[in-house]
Amino acid sequence: MTNGTNNEIIAVRTRFAPSPTGDPHVGSVWTALFNWLYARHYHGKFILRIEDTDRTRFIASAEMKIIETLRWFGLDYDEGPDIDGPFGPYRQSERLNLYQQYAEQLIANGAAYYCFCSPERLQEIRKEQKLRKTPIRYDGHCRNLDPQAAFSRRAAGEIAVVRLKIPFNGQTVVDDLIRGRVVFKNSVIDDQILLKSDGWPTYHLASVVDDHFMQINPVIRAEEWLSSTPKQLLLYQALGWTAPRFAHLPLILGSDRSKLSKRHGSMDALKFRDDGYLPEAVINFLALLGWNPKTNEEFFTRAELIKRFELKAVNKAGAIYDRQKLDWFNAHYLRSLPPAELVHLAKPYLEKKEVEKLPPAALGRVVGVAAERAKTLLEIPALTTFFFKRPAYEPSLLNWKQTVADLTAQRINRLLEILKDLPAADFTEDNLENIVKSKINDEKLGVGETLWPMRVALTGLKESPGPFTVAAILGKEETLERLSEAMKKLS
Ligand code: GLU
Repeated sequence: MTNGTNNEIIAVRTRFAPSPTGDPHVGSVWTALFNWLYARHYHGKFILRIEDTDRTRFIASAEMKIIETLRWFGLDYDEGPDIDGPFGPYRQSERLNLYQQYAEQLIANGAAYYCFCSPERLQEIRKEQKLRKTPIRYDGHCRNLDPQAAFSRRAAGEIAVVRLKIPFNGQTVVDDLIRGRVVFKNSVIDDQILLKSDGWPTYHLASVVDDHFMQINPVIRAEEWLSSTPKQLLLYQALGWTAPRFAHLPLILGSDRSKLSKRHGSMDALKFRDDGYLPEAVINFLALLGWNPKTNEEFFTRAELIKRFELKAVNKAGAIYDRQKLDWFNAHYLRSLPPAELVHLAKPYLEKKEVEKLPPAALGRVVGVAAERAKTLLEIPALTTFFFKRPAYEPSLLNWKQTVADLTAQRINRLLEILKDLPAADFTEDNLENIVKSKINDEKLGVGETLWPMRVALTGLKESPGPFTVAAILGKEETLERLSEAMKKLS
């Protein structure tokens, strides 16, 4: 790609830079996905960087969860904390010296300054600004301290933070790859803290230093960071570095058009795995959130997504997260799985005792039939229990619409006679369908009157796989038993 300003060819390196503060959210996976697709499209590198500088929100187990999540979704990274790489370390807590060094450089060249204001003073300012309804920001109290005097105070151990000196005038322009030109007035930007009093950097300094040294370009991230970008551009300038290009992804909205949150259901990324979604389905679904492939097709393999993905086809407007659409994708992917793969994936959701009762071929058929109706792997057990256990149901359920119990009993009786004559070896779906349907036809038995009670007798359900499919899987003996049981219930 070219950097847009001087047509220089730059290697593509994108990054996913989560903060380990909790369980990864589906929105984070979405950001990671777009970074990954972009890197793979341009044969570049995709990097995982752990932004663990906020020690108050740090959760030690979160990094493993992030890695587990990326693995499950198949978003492989080329460099990261657990695999290292040429620009490591990839955890910000292991790069503190670097941030401190550049904070000092900024002070030395006058682009940043020590601020000795106490938390109490800052609180006072905030209170006053709130009262006067003016923007909440630092009032510049320490901005013009004599640098030598400030340095001596700091050297004598006085507590201070380092702030960036934002110019009072002018504007900073973000030339965003998705949104185009976004202009910020410098006068509304706060003198951002770069280094905290304990020597830890804030997000802004750490992220700029790392994106620079890790040669990240472009930076693709969530819209919520757009307002930070002018500060970061000014920081690049102050450090004398060329800034990368930026792309801010649209917001993800719930179906009520409010920002996606827990109110719209669990957004924990690994919950999709536990709830029986397939990573391929979720990836396909997430890719179409906010990205327009410019075709009516909706199903894309990973390879196709990589081939087609472009940032310029990402919308500015918020993308609606539609859970039903995800279920629809998942159901499609479930049905397209090769049978052996489906059984392998469904097994952990089924009861072990039941699985062991069935020979592998029968298990494959049972699971395959259930998958025809399931939206997730998690729904498969409920759709298979009647194969393993005789169903319990109210006798009246056997009657088709207004049919009376006597007539239903006659139909079940006739079914028993017909099926008794069929040798067990011929008990296949096709044979059953041919024979039973032709009898229904010849003897005017009525489709609903005959097949409805057959379905209920075999499954106990109103909605189930077709009765011939179920009968063929259950086999002759069990099918006859269940029909006889239905007869008993009616009498
Ligand atoms: N650590 C930030 C986050 O958790 C990353 C922001 C960025 O991508 O620059 O979202």
